[in-house]
Amino acid sequence: MSREKACPFFFGRVFFRSLQSIIEGKKQGIVISLRQKGIILKAGIAFIDSHVHLDLLYEAEPSCLSKLRRAGCLPVSWAFGHGIQSTGDLETYLHSQAGALEKINREVLPCFFLSGIHPRNIPADLRPEDVERLLLPFLDHPLCLGIGEIGLENADAHEKEIFSAQLALAPEMAQRGKVFGVHTPKGDKIRVSNEILEILKGFTSFRDRIIVDHCTIETIDEVLRSEFWAGMTLSPAKSSVEDLQDVARRHVKYLDRIMLNTDSGDTFYDDLLKLVQGNNSETERKGDLTRGNACRFFGIPSPPG
Ligand SMILES: [Zn+2]
Repeated sequence: MSREKACPFFFGRVFFRSLQSIIEGKKQGIVISLRQKGIILKAGIAFIDSHVHLDLLYEAEPSCLSKLRRAGCLPVSWAFGHGIQSTGDLETYLHSQAGALEKINREVLPCFFLSGIHPRNIPADLRPEDVERLLLPFLDHPLCLGIGEIGLENADAHEKEIFSAQLALAPEMAQRGKVFGVHTPKGDKIRVSNEILEILKGFTSFRDRIIVDHCTIETIDEVLRSEFWAGMTLSPAKSSVEDLQDVARRHVKYLDRIMLNTDSGDTFYDDLLKLVQGNNSETERKGDLTRGNACRFFGIPSPPG
């Protein structure tokens, strides 16, 4: 699927109704359907939160979702469940995640999601051969843009097997125009990020479909030089706006491959919202970083003109 060049301001009732009619309708895949139908999206997206856990946020702080809608946020929700002890629990969570996103999209806020097995959600009884059966059904869901949150936390052998089994679905993903969202951990960041990049070397032909997320000042260089997309999470727990400005100054030639997110879940972080609404002329190419790049990466359609 070709990627769009730009994603001007559009959001609101027209986009919401378009999503609704397609979900209730017959076509597979909103992005394809919107393009095939030639629907002109007149309303605006102020920004895209390219990695959030909307199902968790809806449970923890439901009022935040209306706030995000009013602010013109289009969220992409990544999979992470609580209390997953067995493969059965994981399967139940993935179905409940899709159900929660359908409900949120229908009742509160237009949104998309990634389905996947987070490295901290890998139960001891999960085998690599179970992965395809668990994830493939979601790839045809009209709100699903791909597989995530996947990656490594400690980089043990089981994590690597499950991460690799998910990446092995890359040809299926490319056929469907979908992407991968890859987590890097907070602890032992540089070592585990390097292990992740080592595994991703086997998938460089799919690099346009892979975002390596939670990059920091210390790790983003390697990700960008490997020509993957890079995500930065703005929150007190991860990176600050000053970190972003530093990265933007040092990586001017890669500013079309970086996107931003909050990773909000049980806690809501408003750092991205403040960046979007604030007047920080110091942040280079703010519109691309907060909206345009994510539109191109996820294949979210932009309106003509
Ligand atoms: Zn996350």
